[in-house]
Amino acid sequence: MIDDGRSNALASHSLEVIRRCQTDQGAFLASPSFSQYGYSWLRDGAFISEALDVVGDLESAARFHAWVASVVLDRSAGMERAIDAARAGLIPEPFDYLHCRYAPDGTTGPEDWPTFQLDGPGIWLWSLGHHVRSGGTIPNQAAEAGALVARYLAALRHTPASDAWEEFPQHVHTSTLGAVVAGLRGARDLGLATAEVDAARDEIEAALLGPSAHWTKWAGNSAVDASLTWLVAPYGLVEPDVGPAAETLRRIESELEDADGGVHRYLDDTYYGGGAWMLNTAYLARARLRRGKDGDRQLAERALRWIEAQADGLGDLPEQVPTRALHPGRIDEWRVLWGESARPLVWSHASYLVLRHELGLEAP
Ligand code: BGC
Repeated sequence: MIDDGRSNALASHSLEVIRRCQTDQGAFLASPSFSQYGYSWLRDGAFISEALDVVGDLESAARFHAWVASVVLDRSAGMERAIDAARAGLIPEPFDYLHCRYAPDGTTGPEDWPTFQLDGPGIWLWSLGHHVRSGGTIPNQAAEAGALVARYLAALRHTPASDAWEEFPQHVHTSTLGAVVAGLRGARDLGLATAEVDAARDEIEAALLGPSAHWTKWAGNSAVDASLTWLVAPYGLVEPDVGPAAETLRRIESELEDADGGVHRYLDDTYYGGGAWMLNTAYLARARLRRGKDGDRQLAERALRWIEAQADGLGDLPEQVPTRALHPGRIDEWRVLWGESARPLVWSHASYLVLRHELGLEAP
């Protein structure tokens, strides 16, 4: 059984970590202590704002959305140029496209990073819809920014970009397409989509969500990736027990889940040796709760306990743990480069809070 006392304390601490890492401008630092993560990623922030909606802190979530809106609108001229470039079949310029992460003051991070990623803006639009469904109102400027992001995603949907793990920039990633659909559905529900945006969404949905689709890292690659879980939970693009969703969940369970419940990103992952990640474990648990087969709830509870067991004495959750690393020989090179892997990782705390909520546990 879940130890309520410890679990409640970890939940309160998780909310504290999230609030502590929100800057005055509304941005969320991905990790306050890890050398590379002192920026606010659209992806991490969008998933963090979901957790704030769920625990009822709509105000902090709204501050994040307002921050994203200002970052986006400051770059509207560049984004329009990126839209034109993509329509002409060109790759947009780095000073035109949206970056994956920004400093809290809205400036870009150092350029030695795979900054061109399209899932982050999609996840942000999805999270804006989630915020409104949770009872929040769209902050000033977020509607204008959301409409622009929707047009940007629709135009750039076929452009290769780095994936959710910031890798393989030469491909169009299935998980990214899922984030784009989730974002464009969010734009539709918020009344921010043009006819062209809706047509782009219809096109991706037809290819991605049909019963005969197969979800792999990218078309032509056969590997499965834990970020594909997000198409089921939290985006809810399709039911978990049909077609590509059913097959993908089965593969993630058999290929990426450890015997103790921790979940890896993908088999060839060598980042800090390819450990098991808190957030992947939480999202698989959420997908299982949606699927609701025999044993799924027990496995989701086991996932919560596994995440809790990775907290340190302060209650801080890491990004990943190396205990059952897929490539243990590749851990030290990262430690030498950047130090111990991130802890606390704010997104880990957010994913933990939402899983608790979905298991029916009390909000902190
Ligand atoms: C992960 C990204 C994440 C970033 C900041 C990277 O290692 O692959 O998904 O956005 O860290 O947390």
